[in-house]
Amino acid sequence: MKRTKITELLATQPGGEVCAKGWVRTRRGSKSVYFIALNDGSTIKNIQVVADAEKFDEELMKQVTTGACLSVEGTLVESVGSGQAVEIQATKIEVLGVCGADYPMQKKGQTFEYMRQHAHMRLRTNTFGAVMRIRHNMAIAIHTYFHEHGFFYFHTPLITASDCEGAGNMFQVTTKNLYDLKKDEEGKIIYSDDFFGEQTSLTVSGQLEGELGATALGAIYTFGPTFRAENSNTPRHLAEFWMIEPEMAFYDKEDLMDLEEDFIKYCVRWALDHCQDDLEFLNKMIDKTLIERLEGVLKEEFVRLPYTEGINILQEAIKNGKKFEFPCEWGDDLASEHERYLVEEHFKRPVIMTDYPKEIKAFYMKTNPDGKTMQGTDVLFPAIGEIIGGSVREESLEKLQAEIDRRKMDDSKLWWYLDTRRWGSCPHAGFGLGFERLILFVTGMANIRDVIPFPRTPGSAQF
Ligand code: ATP
Ligand code: MN
Repeated sequence: MKRTKITELLATQPGGEVCAKGWVRTRRGSKSVYFIALNDGSTIKNIQVVADAEKFDEELMKQVTTGACLSVEGTLVESVGSGQAVEIQATKIEVLGVCGADYPMQKKGQTFEYMRQHAHMRLRTNTFGAVMRIRHNMAIAIHTYFHEHGFFYFHTPLITASDCEGAGNMFQVTTKNLYDLKKDEEGKIIYSDDFFGEQTSLTVSGQLEGELGATALGAIYTFGPTFRAENSNTPRHLAEFWMIEPEMAFYDKEDLMDLEEDFIKYCVRWALDHCQDDLEFLNKMIDKTLIERLEGVLKEEFVRLPYTEGINILQEAIKNGKKFEFPCEWGDDLASEHERYLVEEHFKRPVIMTDYPKEIKAFYMKTNPDGKTMQGTDVLFPAIGEIIGGSVREESLEKLQAEIDRRKMDDSKLWWYLDTRRWGSCPHAGFGLGFERLILFVTGMANIRDVIPFPRTPGSAQF
C-alpha cells in the first residue's frame, strides 16, 4: 500500500484505508490497547495509531519503542482523544528499524548543550524538526521575494584569491603538503606551485563578485555558504554560515533601506503565514513572546538612525546610570549590548543604523560629503543585534582608489573589481543578511548553533 505523509493524513476525511511510515515519539498502553504517537517529519504533529493488543504479537509490540521506525496500515477513523481529527486504527504494523534504550533522544527535556553533542540525532526531536522546517520555508521565502522583484540568483565562488574584503579571518584552501612547505629567502611560503598558482581561501562574502553581477544584470542576489575563521565563540557567530547578498544598480541609500525593511518584513510575514504549527510549538516551548515579537516587527516602521545620533543616545543613557561593558565614544564600533539597548530599550523596534565612521567600515563603502562617515545601513534587531550589514558602494574610481591607498591595502588582486568603476561605473548598493541570524529571530532560539543542522564553530566540526 502506498504511504501517505502524516501532514496529508491529518487533513484527510476519515473512512479510507491508509499507510503511514515514521518514527515512534511515544507509546502508551493498557492491557487491551496500545496508543502510538507516530511522526514522519512532514509536520510537528503526530498521528495517533491505535492497536488492539489481541491483534498484535507481543514480541512485535516490544519493538515498538521510542525512536523505532514503523510502517503502519489501517483505517483512518475519527479520533476522540488524540487532539487531532483523525487517527489510525491499525491492521498491520511492521517495524522497519528497531531502536534500543540507548537512543540518545530517548528522554524529554534534554538541554540544548546535550543535543549539540548528538547533533546527528537531534533532528528527530520536535524542536529541531520545527526549526528545520522553518529554515526551509525561509529559504523559499527569500528566493520567492527576489524572483518576484526581478532579482537574478547569481552564484559567486566559494574559493577566492582576494583577501582584501577584511570581513574576518579566512580559511586557507591548499593542496600543498603541509609537512614539507617550500619557502623563499624571506621565509614566506611559495604558492606559485599550489593548486591555483596563488594563495587561496574560502570566501567571507560574495559581495565583490556580486557587484560585477549587479553592474551587468541590474539586480542580483547570492544565497550560499560563507566562511569566517573568527574565534569569537558567541551565540551569534558560526565559522560556516549562509549569507544572502543582494546587490542593486541605481540604488541610493533610501532605496537600500526601503529594500532591507521590505525584504525582512516579507520573510517574517511568510513565516507567520506558512509555519503556523511550528511557530505555535516554539511559542509554547521555547519563547512565549515569539509570535507577538514577529507580529510586532510587521506593524512598526524601522527607525532610521544615523550613527552619530545613536552615540548621543548611548552617551545620554550612560549619564543616566546605564552601564555597558564596552566603550561607545564616537568612532567606536558598537558592541551587541549597545545595539540591543537602542533596539530593545530605547526605541523598542528595529533600527537601521546609517552613516558610520569611516574607520570602522569596509573600504568599498561610499564616503559622505563630510569626509568622515560612510553610507552604511546596518539593520539591528531585538534579541540579535546586527542582522543585516549593508551599504551604498563607492562608485568613483578615484575615491575608491584613494581609500584603498589610504588603508595601505594590497590591491594587486582587486584589479577586476576596480574595472567596474573604470568602465561604465554606476551608483549601486547592496547588503548581506546572515541566514542563521534571521532563523534565530524567526524561531526564538537563543543559540546560532541550534538553527543550522550541523554547526561549525571553533573546535567543532563533527558530523
Ligand atoms: P558582526 O559584527 O555581528 O560580527 P559583521 O559586521 O562581521 O557581523 P558583515 O560582514 O556585515 O558582518 O556580514 C553581513 C551579515 O552576515 C551580518 O549582518 C550577520 O547577519 C551575518 N554574519 C556575519 N558574521 C557571521 C558569523 N560569523 N556567523 C553568522 N552570521 C554572520
Ligand atoms: Mn556588519
